[in-house]
Amino acid sequence: MLDVAIVGGGPVGSAVAALAAPSGLSIAILEARAAPSGDRRILALSHASRERLEEANAWPTGDATPIESIHISQRGGPGRTLLEAREQSLPALGYTVPHAALESRLAARLSGQRIEVRHGAACEGIALDPEGATVMLGSGEALRARLLVIADGGSSAARIPGVAFREKDYAQEAVVGMVRTDRAHGGRAYERFTPEGPLALLPVADRYALVWTAQPARARELLALDERSFLAGLQVAFGDRAGRFTAIESRNAFPLRLRTVNTPVALRTVIVGNAAQALHPVAGQGLNLGLRDAAALADLLRASPEAAGSREMLDAYRAARRRDASRGVVFTDLLVSIFADGRRLPTWGRGLALAAFDLLPPARRLLAERMIHGAPS
Ligand SMILES: Cc1cc2nc3c(=O)[nH]c(=O)nc-3n(C[C@H](O)[C@H](O)[C@H](O)COP(=O)(O)OP(=O)(O)OC[C@H]3O[C@@H](n4cnc5c(N)ncnc54)[C@H](O)[C@@H]3O)c2cc1C
Repeated sequence: MLDVAIVGGGPVGSAVAALAAPSGLSIAILEARAAPSGDRRILALSHASRERLEEANAWPTGDATPIESIHISQRGGPGRTLLEAREQSLPALGYTVPHAALESRLAARLSGQRIEVRHGAACEGIALDPEGATVMLGSGEALRARLLVIADGGSSAARIPGVAFREKDYAQEAVVGMVRTDRAHGGRAYERFTPEGPLALLPVADRYALVWTAQPARARELLALDERSFLAGLQVAFGDRAGRFTAIESRNAFPLRLRTVNTPVALRTVIVGNAAQALHPVAGQGLNLGLRDAAALADLLRASPEAAGSREMLDAYRAARRRDASRGVVFTDLLVSIFADGRRLPTWGRGLALAAFDLLPPARRLLAERMIHGAPS
């Protein structure tokens, strides 16, 4: 019997294993994909996430671009605010990291720690009993573990008795891509609230990663536009704060919804990362929250390896994560409601909120603090 079986070898499942490795527990990751994803997504990670990944020896140093300031504004209305790293006494508010770079850094770390990572091992069934969890794989093989960690982004938690999902469809899609401008970014990220939805530009090496939310029909239209028309539309939506847009590559679109579980624990089981809470990317909180799940679980496993999967350990995990996870969900959902949905707050109200943040350094510090560290437990 294994001590810990982790279903899902994405960034959160891999981080759980890397951070828990010093516990000496036998840990295996079961990953459905036959090979690494090579996902082209760009992730915005907070300074606190960097510290966690450094602790796991999995921070992709050469591939991270520091975000030194974040400019927040709205199109068609007054008000703006600027969050700056120096105001927080930090080298950077956060970093952008290519998903693929993080994936390969974590994989290298896991092989150094002799953690078994099985590719092509899709979980197709789960049975739980007081002594352990059994995972049924597509190959017909069954694996037993004292603790089951569900980190598969959401596909297996529904198999667990007592676990239910709450879903909210934002009826929006995120159009993503890599965009160039005729001006250096200077480490500045932009979040601009437009009548169509939030539009973010994140500095990545000598370019920006674009996340442009729009209604599904508009998103399809944006994907189909030729480069010149796309850039012209982007210029109108974003304005000229970042300079003139000159090129766009790797366009893609993702549907946006909020999905949360009613409980992150069940008999012999912990649910982490996107499997526990999948968020709108408006505040770039998803993986940051998932890495805090991973760190909390790994802390418990390192502190009391013999308690892996016990009732006490599960209760301790739930208590450690309750406040931060629920606040992260509420914070992101509130931002979407207030800033992305014009019906909830008029333009002048949003302008007032942005101006208030700009005029009140403590409010700015609190916002940055929440985005970097989450809610205190
Ligand atoms: C457009 C977009 C932009 C984003 N930007 C940001 C950002 O800037 N900052 C941020 O913090 N977050 C961001 N996110 C969210 C972030 O990508 C997720 O929070 C993160 O990927 C969650 O990691 P995870 O390991 O929990 O799940 P996933 O990344 O979904 O990984 C789950 C893994 O489980 C595997 N799996 C699935 N089913 C099974 C099964 N049955 N058996 C075995 N394995 C299985 C999958 O193959 C996958 O490898 C963004 C998301 C989107 C869509």
